[in-house]
Amino acid sequence: MNAREVKEIIGTLGDIREDVHGKTVLVTGGAGFLGSWLCDVLVELDANVLCIDNLASGLKSNISELLDKDNFTFIRHDITQPVFFDEDLDVVLHLASRASPFEFQRFPIQILKANTLGIWVALGLAKRHKARLLYTSTSEIYGNATEIPTSEEYTGNVNPIGARSCYDEAKRCGESFVTAYRLEHGMDARIARLFNTYGPRMRADDIYGRVVPRFIDQALKNAPITVFGDGSQTRSFCYVTDQIEALLRFAFLEDLDGKTVNVGSDEEITIVALAEIIKKLTNSASNIKFEDLPKDDPLRRRPDIGKAKDLLNWKPKVGLEKGLERTIRWFRMK
Ligand code: UDP
Repeated sequence: MNAREVKEIIGTLGDIREDVHGKTVLVTGGAGFLGSWLCDVLVELDANVLCIDNLASGLKSNISELLDKDNFTFIRHDITQPVFFDEDLDVVLHLASRASPFEFQRFPIQILKANTLGIWVALGLAKRHKARLLYTSTSEIYGNATEIPTSEEYTGNVNPIGARSCYDEAKRCGESFVTAYRLEHGMDARIARLFNTYGPRMRADDIYGRVVPRFIDQALKNAPITVFGDGSQTRSFCYVTDQIEALLRFAFLEDLDGKTVNVGSDEEITIVALAEIIKKLTNSASNIKFEDLPKDDPLRRRPDIGKAKDLLNWKPKVGLEKGLERTIRWFRMK
């Protein structure tokens, strides 16, 4: 467990700590990168945590230290299939989905189902238990955005039959499910649009690797760092402790029913610059190797986070170099 950083997140939460205490919280995708960090913090704050994961891309090792806690239950289950609970749920956090672009090519149907049938099951549970629901949507719903920084008002530039459509369109449909359930059933539901997030527990292996863990892994092995295209495409990377703080604020603050909020960092950087920083921070002898840019890879990505700052009383605190140093340290110790 990343105990020191879990404590650090808890230290930022203020009064929200009391709101979490004693609540029963269902986390779908709870063994994944972000799901497992959420479970760690929630367990530490004495919530009763029910973690669902089918372990398709999540890892049991992410939650191994939680398994013997009295206030943590792991249920191996695919959230696209119905599931029932006897105990009352207070909050449902729906994170379950593969999220790596390489997975979009290999498992597009599972991804479509996790964000359509999966959110439908999660909403059904929240409705039955009169629980609050937080859906983790994505910057991908904006597609190849023409408005940078991108605000929540921007409606998107997405190719419905493109290489990333299983994720983009499914997440858009997921948002529509949340909107429909609020409309028909008057339930308390919220949508967080997550921008690129990184940190310890991200997978670097095979099709699961996103750019930060891949570059770190390559750099630590002195292997070529694979920059796709000419590396001029941009992303804005949020360190995991900042992201988890924002998600918990969004899930547990009162009066945010029906809100849709971008969550991420607005520190924009090109991918080739990211490669150079990681090379420097790891003292790596790696070369940079340019490879073909995947189809429909968004050219620029940077959120407008004004709404998150305002509504969640939050801002990202861990700068890119500091977050990368922490992530590199974790990869070295792994
Ligand atoms: N990328 C890259 N080399 C890699 C993996 C990714 O240059 O080995 C690029 C990718 O083309 C994209 C950016 O890094 O422009 C971020 O990729 P990631 O897989 O993290 O997810 P995305 O932000 O595209 O959803």
